[in-house]
Amino acid sequence: MLTTGPRGTKDILPDLSSHWRYIESIARDICNRSVYQEIRTPIFEHTELFLRGIGETTDIVEKEMYTFIDRGKRSITLRPENTAAVVRSYLEHKLYADLQPSKLYYIGPMFRYDRPQAGRYRQFHQFGVEAIGAKGPVIDAEIISLAVLFFRKLGLNELMLYINSVGCPKCRPVYRTQLKDFFHEKLSFLCEDCQSRFERNPMRILDCKNDKCAEISNNAPHMVESLCEDCSTHFSQLKQLLTAAQIDYIINPRLVRGLDYYTKTAFEIQYPPLGAQSAVCGGGRYDGLVAECGGQPTPGIGFAIGLERVLLALEKQKLLPEVNTAIDVFVAPLIGAAQAMAFGLLVKLREQGVTCDMDYMERSLKAQMKYANKYPAKYVALIGEDEIAQGKVMFKNMATGEQQLTDSKDIIRMIKEGMEK
Ligand code: ATP
Ligand code: MG
Repeated sequence: MLTTGPRGTKDILPDLSSHWRYIESIARDICNRSVYQEIRTPIFEHTELFLRGIGETTDIVEKEMYTFIDRGKRSITLRPENTAAVVRSYLEHKLYADLQPSKLYYIGPMFRYDRPQAGRYRQFHQFGVEAIGAKGPVIDAEIISLAVLFFRKLGLNELMLYINSVGCPKCRPVYRTQLKDFFHEKLSFLCEDCQSRFERNPMRILDCKNDKCAEISNNAPHMVESLCEDCSTHFSQLKQLLTAAQIDYIINPRLVRGLDYYTKTAFEIQYPPLGAQSAVCGGGRYDGLVAECGGQPTPGIGFAIGLERVLLALEKQKLLPEVNTAIDVFVAPLIGAAQAMAFGLLVKLREQGVTCDMDYMERSLKAQMKYANKYPAKYVALIGEDEIAQGKVMFKNMATGEQQLTDSKDIIRMIKEGMEK
């Protein structure tokens, strides 16, 4: 127990944390350039927020939340996703009073009691963006373009972008009735989950992963054929915008969100080489969510990308950059008495922006040189008895093998000159 983490969690060890920084830096870069600002909300929220903001008939709320009563007897939930929290924050801090839309992004851990397997964990990380306050299709296309750009920048090319429109509370009831008519006599062939979805949320039958349900759903009527004029125009404009940006898409009529506050655009990005867990991004419009959370009716759209799956894809395609462990200087005290001088030099070098390390283990000269080569270090600053006596260090260039007794203040100059070469 004490030496194993909880099921579904993973440690990100030092040799992999640079991969995380790499993908995070690409995400931040794209957001900065597209003028999306970072928002950091708490890891836990009132449970009520997710009941409202995700919906009580969803898998997340029904089966996957980490919910507990805190010592103040409040019901608290570790965030299973972040849109609801961003909307909460938008309302709490009146971001709607700023110039609209509010264009926000986040990167952080999410928590779901999922069945752990490759690409599916109980603590996982999402990079997400939300644009709140704009209703036109340009912002939908921009949001989709950010996700596509992120994957392209990472070098992942075999992506499939699926889009659909789930309509709005005006046109959806008609579709829902059509769908219920369609599934009515096939009810006994559907899985247990779908049988209960039939009354509560029939659109969710369409995205059931059960093979039999999927086969039956294949012939179900399509939402796009029942869209009202507003939703239909929005969808065709979105398609034009994506084409203008040379973003390929496939219309997937089975891509749905069953709740009333999800409207119009729904999209998903798949990376098929990942196999079973191939969905790397899910997103869509939520024009009813802000009002559901207690605000004035305000449109919004966003996506969330699962970063563990992105890393799996990058590993598979060997697209992760080499880890660079090189340093400028290795400071090598050759006797115990040299440690103070070595440590003084180490701190001074770091203050000057030099990347350096020292021996902490009282290794022999030979072992220290071997250690310095492992990083590798460009220079080694050797300090032995003679060096202490003269108040200088033996500064060795590891590439040329040249070494000379050097004043510590000249070291910085030599390193900088070396860097310029
Ligand atoms: P799935 O159908 O795979 O469970 P989802 O519909 O629950 O996905 P979303 O809520 O849309 O997923 O989350 C967006 C993205 O977050 C997913 O496309 C996926 O990349 C990632 N994700 C979701 N759940 C997990 C998890 N348990 N572990 C790792 N990544 C996850
Ligand atoms: Mg899920």
